Amino acid sequence: MRALFARHALLPQGWRRDVLLEWNIHGDLAHIAADATAPPGVACADHVLPGMVNLHSHAFQRALGGLTERAGDGPDSFWTWRDLMYRFAARITPEQIEAIAAQLFSECLRHGYTSVCEFHYLQRDQGGKPYARPADTAERIACAGHEAGMGLTLLPVLYSHAGFGEQPLKPGQERFRTGVDDVLGIVDALGSLRDGQLEVGAAPHSLRAATIAQVRALAEGLPQGRPLHIHIAEQQAEVAQCLAYSGQRPVAYLMEHAGIDERWCLVHATHLDDLEVAALARSGAVAGLCPTTEANLGDGLFPLEPFIAAGGRFGVGSDSHVSQSPVEELRWLEYGQRLLHQRRNVAVTRERRDVGEYLWQAALRGGAQAAGRRVGALEEGRRADLLVLDGVHPNLDGVQEADVLGRFLFCGNDNLVRDVLCGGRWVVQGGRHVAQDAIAQRYRQAINELREVSQ
Ligand SMILES: [Zn+2]
Repeated sequence: MRALFARHALLPQGWRRDVLLEWNIHGDLAHIAADATAPPGVACADHVLPGMVNLHSHAFQRALGGLTERAGDGPDSFWTWRDLMYRFAARITPEQIEAIAAQLFSECLRHGYTSVCEFHYLQRDQGGKPYARPADTAERIACAGHEAGMGLTLLPVLYSHAGFGEQPLKPGQERFRTGVDDVLGIVDALGSLRDGQLEVGAAPHSLRAATIAQVRALAEGLPQGRPLHIHIAEQQAEVAQCLAYSGQRPVAYLMEHAGIDERWCLVHATHLDDLEVAALARSGAVAGLCPTTEANLGDGLFPLEPFIAAGGRFGVGSDSHVSQSPVEELRWLEYGQRLLHQRRNVAVTRERRDVGEYLWQAALRGGAQAAGRRVGALEEGRRADLLVLDGVHPNLDGVQEADVLGRFLFCGNDNLVRDVLCGGRWVVQGGRHVAQDAIAQRYRQAINELREVSQ
């Protein structure tokens, strides 16, 4: 039966009791009723949340997690990490990309993500030549998403230059090489895969890798309404380079010259001045925040408090996948702000005073917008993407409804996600992904092959 009865469910307007959720054969929520009675034969759950959107992922980087934590001779930075990542990216095969992505998606589902925006920039083979099928590696990600049961937004990446002023690509970047027409060709080739579980947008990699004219051309060439993502202002060095090149800071430059609106997700946007905070909030674009990766890479802290006060929209992503948990992203989003301001309970508004509930709901709304899919809420017509929390865990057993998200986000390290429904399909049951062993076996094989190549 395609139904679930939740004693407590988080709906867009807040917690509601005795909620009957029904979905159709296409995986869309068809009927939601609060204050209902449990029909006979329908499974019951204590606490049900909408599944979270992971708005920024480079799936292959999952294989690098934890392997870059050793100091080199000089000060280590984002740029030394990037050199290591390039060496890894240079040798990975399409089969290995698929195996790693399937493992990542199964882990993300187990921790509560039901949707991933894949910022995909490995478009050429190890020699830097185009694949016979230009969308080959993006299709591998789609296959991995299908196998794991993850909702996807594929974002083929425009990557033409090594730095501001159309600097030629470096040898380690040849696998990423694309022009505007290449990306639009890949978007077109992926068109037949679009369905309730999969959307296709596009992503200029950054203002370093794409000129502003290319950014505009890509936005104009992409079919109406599709999402556009870009990395921006992640590092101070990028801000300095953009100032030297254009006389403007990256976000100000992009906003003035590329017509940023609700289609856009500006990933990181870490280094903003007050005018950029206000302009980004006003634009309706989503700030794509990736707190664990930004911490791991030493990027800096996003000005969350003034951005929320200005009505800005945001979501979270796991980016380099040092974490696969939305709990950890949201926890560190808030903790970074507490450490910065030496205060508690920063991510709130005048009306919404509960940090956990505000963060979960805000990240759902921003994430859904960035994904360009009908996700992010338990609402009729949206995807049937939901999490059943472990009601007998000591953190949740007998807890008041109003404290559930506080317990979920800010207490302990046990994974409290028990079952996960994604697009109307149960993909996690009792804490295990339904294809966990087969997916993990292929992941191990891929990692062993990559290890052999690197030795
Ligand atoms: Zn990224």
